[in-house]
Amino acid sequence: MARKIGSRYTTHQILGRGSAGTVWLGDGPEGAVAIKLLREDLAADQELVGRFVQERAALLGLDHPHVVGVRDLVVDGNDLALVMDLVRGTDLRTRLERERRLAPEAAVAIAADVADGLAAAHKAGIVHRDVKPENVLLDMQGPLGPGGAHPALLTDFGIARLVDTPRHTRATKVIGTPDYLAPEIIEGLPPRASVDVYALATVLYELLAGFTPFGGGHPGAVLRRHVTEAVAPLPGIPDELWQLLLQCLAKAPASRLRAPELAARLREILPGLAGLPPLDIDEPGSEQPEEPEESATGPYVSTGTGTGQGPYEEALYPPVAPGGSRRGAVPLVHGPAATDANRETHTSMRVPGPDELAGGAHGTARAPRAAGERRAGSARHREAVRRRRIKLGIAAAAVVVAAGAGGWFASQHQDGDDAKPGVRQTETTQPRPAR
Ligand code: ADP
Ligand code: MG
Repeated sequence: MARKIGSRYTTHQILGRGSAGTVWLGDGPEGAVAIKLLREDLAADQELVGRFVQERAALLGLDHPHVVGVRDLVVDGNDLALVMDLVRGTDLRTRLERERRLAPEAAVAIAADVADGLAAAHKAGIVHRDVKPENVLLDMQGPLGPGGAHPALLTDFGIARLVDTPRHTRATKVIGTPDYLAPEIIEGLPPRASVDVYALATVLYELLAGFTPFGGGHPGAVLRRHVTEAVAPLPGIPDELWQLLLQCLAKAPASRLRAPELAARLREILPGLAGLPPLDIDEPGSEQPEEPEESATGPYVSTGTGTGQGPYEEALYPPVAPGGSRRGAVPLVHGPAATDANRETHTSMRVPGPDELAGGAHGTARAPRAAGERRAGSARHREAVRRRRIKLGIAAAAVVVAAGAGGWFASQHQDGDDAKPGVRQTETTQPRPAR
């Protein structure tokens, strides 16, 4: 059932569903394309459409082998569509779910590709703001690189920024996982290019370890770890790579490498990683008693598939249960840590001191166990932790809002501009030629 999008494009079949809309295989004047049709509620928002059109130039102008090219933006009646280069392959999350963790060489090759893409974006004044495995596509038709990795392309530039305003997050519950959020965002500072470097380092850590450095458990705890905890070392990774990860996961944005430097360093390290097997470590914290499933799921579970029925509103304002009490409110701190509730939660998040920023004497994220050490966590528990993490991601944004991170939202209209003011302001009506 082909459907016309604007005068030039036709959609044929669904490639995937995302939080902002549905991605279709389609064709246009220059052949096959991927067309992301934004959700109706987003497309119906005049202000959002206006900003979408304003962003045309920047999105269309970003032409790089490791960025999924946007060829056209179509505003047609009720349709708001992003016409993209078609990537024949899979996204990095799917690969990670299949393989759990990648061999260091493949992980670093993928991260280097993404760093290259980010470098081009940052140069053009665009901060991605939503770097995560879901937004990295692997081009299975591209040439195999180091470690057998297919070329990686970063996608969804600008989408987070457009969609992720208080109004839309409130109305539509489009909220990301807190696992990749840089500490300065949690503290309410405007997201600069360095947030992408932090997120990419988090992705690289996850590709190597099978889990993110600060993820797991309650989203409030995840946010707090980003701000206050040091990264737990990964037994078995070459020191050079570890130092690079540490530097890019620094709490202080200015201490992180910039994307072009990161790309260059990763490519320097690559040859030394040839033949290394994937790490064999357990996810930390898996021996802790499981939190009651009830509080983890409750009304906050979201698939993030753009149904618009997510739980954000409920997370902030839980509905009153028939019995009169608010049901399913996410406790800020679980169980025995209750005395902590007024001081150490996100509502009074501690700003790390200089020694801590330098990696000094403060808590370390739960250290993973190396192969051969006692494996405390069962596979079932690991799966439960993973599931809970996905489920709880949605509540994290409520926590961020509750923490008064208004600066994050207030900055939606500013991010990236510091890199190159005005670059986004030009409008074009011409689609970009195919590459
Ligand atoms: P959202 O960011 O709105 O959640 P995504 O961009 O992740 O949605 O798209 C959902 C799915 O659509 C992806 O997982 C992927 O399978 C597919 N997809 C997205 N963009 C492309 C593309 N350019 N080429 C091929 N498939 C794509
Ligand atoms: Mg996406």
